[in-house]
Amino acid sequence: MKIKHLVYLRRISQALFLLLFVFFLMESRLPGAVFQDYSREIAGPTDIRLNYPVTLFFDMDPLTWLSTTLSTHRWLAGAGWALAVTGLTLFLGRFFCGFICPTGAIRRISGKEKITGPIRIGSAFVDRGRCLPWTGNGACIVCEEVCPTSPKAVVFREADVEGFGAERLRLKQPYVNLRQCVGCGICQNKCPIKGTPAIRVIAAGETRSPKNQILLI
Ligand code: SF4
Ligand code: SF4
Repeated sequence: MKIKHLVYLRRISQALFLLLFVFFLMESRLPGAVFQDYSREIAGPTDIRLNYPVTLFFDMDPLTWLSTTLSTHRWLAGAGWALAVTGLTLFLGRFFCGFICPTGAIRRISGKEKITGPIRIGSAFVDRGRCLPWTGNGACIVCEEVCPTSPKAVVFREADVEGFGAERLRLKQPYVNLRQCVGCGICQNKCPIKGTPAIRVIAAGETRSPKNQILLI
């Protein structure tokens, strides 16, 4: 199948799933008797699962099926659907996400895009007013250590900084190489600065939006 046919197929599939989600939304109501007196029925043995087509969709979600089974202490019908989805995912990956997502948020990444450059979801920047080496508060290399790219997107330059006791400190100050950074956010997550981290990821530079770029060349 040609790529453009696959793209059309995805769009048709996404449109159908959007209609399906709207249909499910309209059909998502508790069975009549339970709806009338929820407090009484929930304490009793009544099956309060949603009506058939909606329930089937939840049965296909392995996490929903498992958590419902565990929380109700009952073996719910629908294990076959959940196991089938789990098995397919194990062997084929989550190939269906892009076909199901009704907003198109999960888009197709072409082979060319994978080869020509990293797919970026944003860019990290160092807040020099909070970063330990930049403010003269001491040495820190955490963001460089955790950065997963190769070569690292966080690089250091040594600088003489005045410490708070007026002593001269030679510290490694971090910079972000925007050509390497993919915006994964690990550095932001691991930065030891309490409250607002000293390195943060912004949306600029993400590859999905050519207009939201910060590199000029
Ligand atoms: S982890 Fe935070 S404080 Fe440490 S060097 Fe990186 S940005 Fe600065
Ligand atoms: S956002 Fe990810 S890739 Fe970019 S500097 Fe931080 S850890 Fe490295």
